Amino acid sequence: MEAELKEILSDVDALKRSSIDPSLHNSIDQLRLRVEHLASLAESAPVQRSKVKDMSAEVIDSNPYSRLMALQRMGIVANYERIREFSVAIVGIGGVGSVAAEMLTRCGIGRLLLYDYDTVELANMNRLFFRPEQVGMTKTDAAVQTLSDINPDVVLESYTMNVTTVEGFDTFMSSLKKKTFRSHKEGCGVDLVLSCVDNYEARMVVNQACNELNQTWMESGVSEDAVSGHIQLLIPGETACFACVPPLVVASGVDERTLKREGVCAASLPTTMGVVAGLLVQNTLKYLLQFGQVSRYLGYNALKDYFPTMEMKPNTQCSNNACLERQAEYMLAKPARDAAAKAKLEAEALVVEEIPLHDDNEWNISVGDDIELEESATPSTDVLPEGLVHELPAADEYKHASSLEQDTQDANSADDLDELRRQLEALNAV
Ligand SMILES: [Zn+2]
Repeated sequence: MEAELKEILSDVDALKRSSIDPSLHNSIDQLRLRVEHLASLAESAPVQRSKVKDMSAEVIDSNPYSRLMALQRMGIVANYERIREFSVAIVGIGGVGSVAAEMLTRCGIGRLLLYDYDTVELANMNRLFFRPEQVGMTKTDAAVQTLSDINPDVVLESYTMNVTTVEGFDTFMSSLKKKTFRSHKEGCGVDLVLSCVDNYEARMVVNQACNELNQTWMESGVSEDAVSGHIQLLIPGETACFACVPPLVVASGVDERTLKREGVCAASLPTTMGVVAGLLVQNTLKYLLQFGQVSRYLGYNALKDYFPTMEMKPNTQCSNNACLERQAEYMLAKPARDAAAKAKLEAEALVVEEIPLHDDNEWNISVGDDIELEESATPSTDVLPEGLVHELPAADEYKHASSLEQDTQDANSADDLDELRRQLEALNAV
């Protein structure tokens, strides 16, 4: 770019020298000024950072991973660097998918596979990620451009295609199976598939592919009115698949494309989409790096700031054959799974018993009574200066609240189902 602009400058100079008409000199000078301006902009363009071989925990300003590796030091994640081994496929690079891709890129994910057939439009600018100068580019190309600048360590694969076509589905399947990134990996070539599409047809395609490949995936969605959304974990055979609990449109066999209303434009908010993308990637990180609890279903009602959760078991009458096969495999493996869980519990109990007692006490160290400690510790945390209150409940209050929650779970599940039904109806209206 810089070299080309310098060539244009010398061409302009040559043009001025050869021009015998002095009235043109002024225009040529104007042109030269504009090219000079472009050349200076090109020179000041940011330089992309070089790749980093190993993730370091060193606390220096130039380390892009110091804040992430701190999760390990704080005991949240056992081995953060493992994130570099994982491949995540994102289907649909729209309001949720693009933001999810950026979050995973910033977290240093090993490899991202991006699928979309659409192009960037000005009408997308109310959401995050894409920029006006990318209008007209395919979403996959624009995403690769931005993501590779943010973190060149991430391996990016872009698939500009529609997964709902026959050809697209074949390419989708073979790309998920490909093990070029980690050849010794068991199962598929990816660790997780994230569905960030905006229609049922595409969701059913992702569902079909993941059921066939026995691939765990997460589904996400935002309603047409922009004020609710959800994420859902789907483990073939273990949890309900997308066809197990069919949405109304699919159940009645109506082609959803015929339901689209002319001139009706779905609403969208960067806030709702950002929240859903955040919940989706938070659960992706928990799933991959094995910390915390991964949500099976988590809804988001923006009007009430209400987050319903629920579990959905597979439907033994599911219309998807691959789902029924996975269910049968899951049931067959039950005795082995139970035995492994029991062995783990026993091993943990043994570790507790085996904590060695020190008979020799060379330094005469004595440990105070537990009750005494508790009594002396309690007042120091409870007594606060006047006018101040605790932001969070104490551990015992929290425990009490959780057991109450357990008691009322049955009553809440009816509300949760109503909420889910409302969200599905809103989605159906797209
Ligand atoms: Zn199913």
